[in-house]
Amino acid sequence: MIKLILFDISGVLYENNKPIRRAVDVVNQLQQESTLSLLFVTNSSQMTEQMIYTSLTNFGFHIEKSQLFTPTTALKHLLKERGLTPFCIIHPNLEPEFISSDNDKPNAVVVTDAAEQFNYSKLNSAFELLLNGAPLLGIGRNKYFKRGGKFMLDAGPFIVALEYAADVEAEIIGKPSASFFMAAVDSVGCRPEQTLMIGDDVEADVNGALSVGLQAVLVKTGKYRKGDEQKINSVDAKVVDSVVGAVSAFLEH
Ligand SMILES: [Mg+2]
Repeated sequence: MIKLILFDISGVLYENNKPIRRAVDVVNQLQQESTLSLLFVTNSSQMTEQMIYTSLTNFGFHIEKSQLFTPTTALKHLLKERGLTPFCIIHPNLEPEFISSDNDKPNAVVVTDAAEQFNYSKLNSAFELLLNGAPLLGIGRNKYFKRGGKFMLDAGPFIVALEYAADVEAEIIGKPSASFFMAAVDSVGCRPEQTLMIGDDVEADVNGALSVGLQAVLVKTGKYRKGDEQKINSVDAKVVDSVVGAVSAFLEH
């Protein structure tokens, strides 16, 4: 029986800057009337946790800030814990959280979805640091996201380019890393098989969750593309039209 639902946010709860049809009602009803634990997990790294929280509440979702589970915070802790000073290729929105005055001698490379900040000069500086042994850290390796009806490159292709050139492997903090999913599951004291991941990214959300024993549903909203269902690594995972169908499919059982 499901005890925890992990909702991906972008493409599952909203798209094109508006909530998915009936998603607000479904989430708010679960929050109010069910005993399920709900967490909202995202690899989005163009916004701070506060910005994500504000946008969800502005859409009408009744969520607590403590229900947001983002890798940005985990990445900050990890840097501090390991005494790493990052060279950052990140979105300007995240700069206040990652860049301080002592970033002039970096010994690690952090790459998140940097949008216009991805440029040759920055990528080359990162490449040089990696050649000198600095670790490469990323929020996710998502290939693309969808905004305003258009597919846009996410951080993944840039991380892979750096890995390829410097012959290194990035440490991924967010989805689909097993430790990220397990940290979410452990945070509410559930077991993996009691957890359902609802996502629009077949690799990061669905296959990532399945690989650590969670149940998973792929929704046909957001970045979903025809044929994504063929990429699911399990015959048990469901594919549904939207988060509304995902919730009802599991609550009926
Ligand atoms: Mg998504």
